[in-house]
Amino acid sequence: MKTMKTAIYPGSFDPITFGHLDIIRRAADIFDKVVVCVMINSEKKTMFTIEERMDLISRVIGDFPNVEVDTWNGLLAEYAMNYQDAVIIKGLRAISDFESEFQMAIINKKINPYLETLFLSASEQYTYLSSSAVKEMAKYGADLSEFVPEEIIDDVIRKSQMRR
Ligand code: ADP
Repeated sequence: MKTMKTAIYPGSFDPITFGHLDIIRRAADIFDKVVVCVMINSEKKTMFTIEERMDLISRVIGDFPNVEVDTWNGLLAEYAMNYQDAVIIKGLRAISDFESEFQMAIINKKINPYLETLFLSASEQYTYLSSSAVKEMAKYGADLSEFVPEEIIDDVIRKSQMRR
């Protein structure tokens, strides 16, 4: 039987939230290896630099022996060619996520026909959670402890204060 060993979990992770971590944890239970890939998207204005986002992720995935962080400046379908038997993992929060995710999955498959995209449904308690909501809350000094891991709360608060 053919097994798929590596799950690539792409996104902007600006910053990583409990919603992302939940997907990582579940994917790490299913696959031998999970690579969290911080995608460089020049169109998107981000709060944290690529290096900072990778550092925040590294700090919160310490407990998972089979999870790594990487970054890629280019097409995801090309990045996946660096791995044998890799699949793309995405989290789906709502119908609103579906349309663009479905479109991207088809485009990725056109570029790399062997590349499958698998969707994990968001856990109920995180369906409302997004990096942009976290940034908005940080801006107004809200308690972030339900949304991002303890280890990175100060970084998020500090950064949002620098930007005000
Ligand atoms: P965001 O929409 O938070 O800016 P990213 O671009 O970093 O998200 O998202 C990377 C991936 O994580 C996407 O597949 C997205 O659907 C998924 N994701 C984001 N937030 C959650 C969440 N709260 N629960 C499940 N999946 C999520």
